[in-house]
Amino acid sequence: MSKKIIQSAVAFGFFFLTFIPQLYAGKLAIVIDDIGYRQREDSAIYALPPQISVAIIPSAPYAKQRNQLAYQQGRDILIHLPMQAKNNMKLEPGGLYLGMNQSEVEQRVAKAKEIVSYAIGLNNHTGSAATSNAPLMDYLMQALQQHHLFFLDSRTIGSSVASKIARQRGINALDRDIFLDDSDQLADVERQFQRAIQYARKQGKAIVIGHPRPNTIKVLQAGLRQLPPDIQLVSIGSLWHNEKVTPAKPFILLFSDQAAPTSTAPFAPVVGLRGMPQ
Ligand SMILES: [Zn+2]
Repeated sequence: MSKKIIQSAVAFGFFFLTFIPQLYAGKLAIVIDDIGYRQREDSAIYALPPQISVAIIPSAPYAKQRNQLAYQQGRDILIHLPMQAKNNMKLEPGGLYLGMNQSEVEQRVAKAKEIVSYAIGLNNHTGSAATSNAPLMDYLMQALQQHHLFFLDSRTIGSSVASKIARQRGINALDRDIFLDDSDQLADVERQFQRAIQYARKQGKAIVIGHPRPNTIKVLQAGLRQLPPDIQLVSIGSLWHNEKVTPAKPFILLFSDQAAPTSTAPFAPVVGLRGMPQ
């Protein structure tokens, strides 16, 4: 074989190994919930790559600082809104309860957005009761629409109707695929991280939720350093932007159905040419 052919083969092989895996990469999006309470753990999360997104509880003591810092880092921010659970656990202030009316829900979302001002989306903190309640979720989605916020269903319960209602309202909604740290044991978190990688590889993407806890941080620090080449770490926002949305209303006719006239006198209508944008 001539030297040239060998060189081309090497170049092709290099291209193949370098770029092809990226083309077919499984996307891994990781959101860390419950941000705003713990100085040390939150700092460790904020030292991870900026594709790691953070979900801030508005009533948490450091909510405003975390909002500011994440924005400076170019990190995607979510409002982590407390919502009523089936076990009636006490909720953090500013959360959503069953039986709230539309203006109460609107006020809570507006208040949360005032604190977590750089949020691009919202996900639920607990909420097994709230996310199963269609009227409450409909009020929530209308409020998100007003603030141009995306929705991520944390899926704390299988019967959640939240993302379905979000899509009906024309809101870009995603569902959590994997919880990283339901169990805080190091071996369990490691196993969940590997599951997330396999899920992303198989499904094209994996949406993972974790918490600012020591073992989760350990697993993320090590795992992200040695991600397989066919797995791409992405921000949650990049998935929202790619997601196709079912429009809330039927398609609106943007052009008049009158035939457009010629641009010179005598301005006769041209059959088949339609279009003055309105
Ligand atoms: Zn939470």
